[in-house]
Amino acid sequence: EAKRLGRGRYHLFQENLGHAAERRMRIEQELRVALDERRWVLHYQPIVDLASGRVHGFEALLRMRDPQGGLVLPGEFIDVAEESALIHPIGDWVMAEACRQLAQWQRLDLPGPPLVMAVNVTGRQAAEAAASGSVLHTASDAGILPGTLCLEVTERTLLDAADSVVRDLEQLTEAGVQLAIDDFGTGYSSLSYLQQFPVHTVKIDRSFVSGLGVNGRDEAIVAAVAALGSTLGLQVVAEGVETQDQVEHLRRLGCSVGQGYHLGRPCPADEMTALLLGGLDQKVKTAT
Ligand code: C2E
Ligand code: MG
Ligand code: MG
Repeated sequence: EAKRLGRGRYHLFQENLGHAAERRMRIEQELRVALDERRWVLHYQPIVDLASGRVHGFEALLRMRDPQGGLVLPGEFIDVAEESALIHPIGDWVMAEACRQLAQWQRLDLPGPPLVMAVNVTGRQAAEAAASGSVLHTASDAGILPGTLCLEVTERTLLDAADSVVRDLEQLTEAGVQLAIDDFGTGYSSLSYLQQFPVHTVKIDRSFVSGLGVNGRDEAIVAAVAALGSTLGLQVVAEGVETQDQVEHLRRLGCSVGQGYHLGRPCPADEMTALLLGGLDQKVKTAT
């Protein structure tokens, strides 16, 4: 009996290990097929000026269409894509598609400064993109200025970056490409990379934004990051803005740009086009 129990446990453990590895392999296989079948979709979320309600730009957010037509969120597959190096072909598609779409929206000639597109890149992508200058080619092929493209990287990516990658990223930013720190304040915060890197934007993680009006510490952190941004000449974007109350706190704390469900959910390109041509500015203004 004891032996059977023991064996049972052992098997269970093995099976769990097997499941994780199997899941990973299944996802990797699915990614390869999706690449072949071009089953990728970009959704776009507006990045909004909180004072005027004007759309300042967009973040491109990747989805994978599953064979039944449902959409799979990146949390399910980006890690596997990064580890398997499939992130390169996937990321190349994202970059090309996001630049193409931005060019189309810029041609609408809406009032105000040129619209900006933010694209998420992983460590591997940042290293490759920086080294090859492929981002600049993609931008120029699409007909957008490098200054209207923003690469979003996490703090971890910058901390892990080799010196050569740092120099390559500097070259990209010298060519005008903006660099944003995503999920700012989570995990591995170190202010040293704000010295080292030509950072244009910091995006305050939504965990701090959700505490506004509820948690005094979150409020203090948001205020401090906003102050840091204005001193260092960085744009500060609040992520995960879900309520009008948060908008008001952000304005008061000196954070002038936001992104979140309250300001606009990620949506397909055609819906975004309709918003740009008609409703969004008004929605944010009347919500004020
Ligand atoms: P992220 O770059 O921090 O993107 C913001 C995430 O927050 C998105 O999730 C977005 O849908 C979600 N979000 C936006 N507003 C709100 C809000 O008000 N409340 C809440 N609760 N969530 C909000 P999504 O699209 O699932 O993407 C998750 C992460 O996957 C992204 O986080 C980014 O790190 C990564 N990712 C997305 N697209 C790409 C891509 O094309 N390439 C790479 N390398 N990574 C990507
Ligand atoms: Mg992002
Ligand atoms: Mg983020």
